[in-house]
Amino acid sequence: MTGWDGNAVAGLLYDLFGQEMTGVGATCAHCGRRSLLARTRVFRGPGTVLLCPACGGSMLVVCVRDGIACVDAPGFATLAVPLREPVSLRPVGDQSRPRTA
Ligand SMILES: [Zn+2]
Repeated sequence: MTGWDGNAVAGLLYDLFGQEMTGVGATCAHCGRRSLLARTRVFRGPGTVLLCPACGGSMLVVCVRDGIACVDAPGFATLAVPLREPVSLRPVGDQSRPRTA
């Protein structure tokens, strides 16, 4: 175990989500505590594991191999990612559905 927190993997999180993520809040699925990703504890071995700062439960597991990131998020009850643009609530496909005569 290291003394690293989520700030140590800010670059990895940015690569995965396409934006700065250390200020994003997540709720632990194991204990229900809400915290910033910056506050998670980090274990680095063959992969990277973000652990809940309260209970130590695994929140996010990332393994990178051959340019592919495999992501498992067993410990996120919620992850509140801010959107850069409003998202339409239309079901996917509504805008491209062809009209019939
Ligand atoms: Zn927890």
